[in-house]
Amino acid sequence: MYNCSILNKTRTHSLKAFLHSLSTSSKNPTKFRLDFITLCSEGQLKEALSKFQPKTGSDQTIFSLQKNPTSFSLLLQGCVPLQSIALGKQLHSIIVTGGLSSDRFLCNHLLNMYTKCQSLDFALQVFERMGSPNTMSFNILINGFSQKGELCLSLKLFDKMPEKNLASWNAVISGLTQHGFHENGLHYFSEMRNSGLIPDQFTLGSALKGCSGIRALKLGQQIHGNTVKLGFQSNLFVGSSLSHMYMKCGVLDEGERVFRAMPIHNVVSCNTIIAGQAQNGQSDRALDYFKMMKASGLMPDRVTFVSVISSCAELATLGQGQQAHCQATKAGVDLALSVRSSLVSMYSKCGCLADSYQCFIEVANEMDTVLWSSMIAAYGFHGYGREAIYLFEKMVREGIEPNEITFLGLFFACSHSGLKDQGLEYFRLMSEKHGLEPKLEHYTCMVDLLGRLGFLKEAESLIKSMPFKPDPVILKTLLSSCKIHGDAEVAKRVAEDLLLMEPNDSAPYVLISNIHAASKRWEDVTRVRKAMRDSKVKKEPGISWIEVKNQVYKFWMGDKSHPQWREIHRFLKKLIVEIKEHGYEPDTSSVLHDMGEEEKEDSLAHHSEKLAVAFGLMNSPQGCVIRVMKNLRVCIDCHVAIKLISKITMREIVVRDASRFHHFREGSCTCGDYW
Ligand code: ZN
Ligand code: ZN
Repeated sequence: MYNCSILNKTRTHSLKAFLHSLSTSSKNPTKFRLDFITLCSEGQLKEALSKFQPKTGSDQTIFSLQKNPTSFSLLLQGCVPLQSIALGKQLHSIIVTGGLSSDRFLCNHLLNMYTKCQSLDFALQVFERMGSPNTMSFNILINGFSQKGELCLSLKLFDKMPEKNLASWNAVISGLTQHGFHENGLHYFSEMRNSGLIPDQFTLGSALKGCSGIRALKLGQQIHGNTVKLGFQSNLFVGSSLSHMYMKCGVLDEGERVFRAMPIHNVVSCNTIIAGQAQNGQSDRALDYFKMMKASGLMPDRVTFVSVISSCAELATLGQGQQAHCQATKAGVDLALSVRSSLVSMYSKCGCLADSYQCFIEVANEMDTVLWSSMIAAYGFHGYGREAIYLFEKMVREGIEPNEITFLGLFFACSHSGLKDQGLEYFRLMSEKHGLEPKLEHYTCMVDLLGRLGFLKEAESLIKSMPFKPDPVILKTLLSSCKIHGDAEVAKRVAEDLLLMEPNDSAPYVLISNIHAASKRWEDVTRVRKAMRDSKVKKEPGISWIEVKNQVYKFWMGDKSHPQWREIHRFLKKLIVEIKEHGYEPDTSSVLHDMGEEEKEDSLAHHSEKLAVAFGLMNSPQGCVIRVMKNLRVCIDCHVAIKLISKITMREIVVRDASRFHHFREGSCTCGDYW
């Protein structure tokens, strides 16, 4: 990197000498000029200056300037990549003393230099002293303010402009959409269209960004049409923005189609498609595109790794996550805080809390809210409520301001550790002390906390007290608490509300039917199941998966497609006989089907999590931790069974279900039978 301080020491003398030699150099003026332009454009001002030796007195240099405004402008441009505001000011003062402060050409270069060196105040001074700013002067300043987020100033200038061109509109629209004012940006976009101007790639990119921001699919599709008409569909920038817009609006295949139709790709376009897949829950696809990106020789950056590591976290594929960690280290971005935060979450979601902590502690001196929140959430996810609270208190003490995500992690931690009083206290402090209004997600966590501990009426009235309407998730949360505590009365009320909202969702039917089944009210069970059949609701199938030797194996109930299924079933049968000797009694109360006891037991034995655990035990050496993931919550029967399996096989078994982590060791689980 270029050393500015050397330049600062020598610049006064050598700059004048340089400017002087500029006017007196006569040896080979063309070569001289080319060298000069190259050095300036590369930002090698020091080298440019060192090429010239002082020859005569320096007073003449200022006069010589008037003859060379172009060369002078190149010098001003050269200040930008160096961000050398000091040199820029020096040049500015020479302009003033040279009596050139009204030269519009040079003033525009001064404006450009000051705005791009982030000195907007100086830029404004230059602008105000200009006799007659032209459209370009306005554009430079508007762009400077827009980029910095000073949108009021930029819009004021825009309104004052006597004549606006495409660049003026682009500056305003991009400023607005970049700073989250998507609707305003799109408003200016449509005004621009009405004024008859034809958009270019920058206008289209910004307008598409606006559409992504507010998920305006219809408008986005119209702009897609414009793009094709104007011949920009192969443009890398416009193509990436289009693809991004479709992904943000959840139209994945169209986003992929646009991406694939692009003739070339760069890191940004690849990041768009990878992040788009990851954020839409298509973690497998995200990793596929990552492989494609590497195969095409593009170097992934920190943005890529954040998406890739989060995808590994979602899939809970530890092996792939570790590989991504190594690759991020090789790429030199593993210490970037965004990458660190995703590593903390990834290791936590893959069941390796110790690795999460290691990733956190190596950079914990950084005052980064996201990083600390990730670690708090990691503790919560593993049921370490007190550790989460300790870290939260430490965070606040050290002056790192918690945000809404931090509180979500903290409430989750309290909820999953049964820390009711602390949870309620932090819920109060969230708005009173930290000025953050709880959102629906925060209320959901609190309902979970109260519900799990059996305070169902309190949870119900908390929902009623919310300043907004409940959503299906919060009602389902309360409903599953009703199931745990067998409260048919609250359950009925909640289920009715829920079925009004989502008549085709199986979850409320299953939950109500389970509540009835647990209290052996078979008539009610039959009634609910009939209602479920009548509305053609299907229960979401439980799927469990396990990674063995870098390969992921999926299991679901009754699936016989696995090549080893006979062996797995035989192995499982033997295990169940053994755990029965240790007191396991199949809990058939939650089985939905009309069948005999034996059949019920059989269907329990074939639950996906049991199959995956059995497969893991068969295919890994003693001492190796079994890590199983499940898309739904672990059922009570499997929970009991796996506890005993961990005891008799002397293996550590980690199960991540839809709700949390369970570490089974020596016959007990870290969740304390509470999930
Ligand atoms: Zn089960
Ligand atoms: Zn558990």
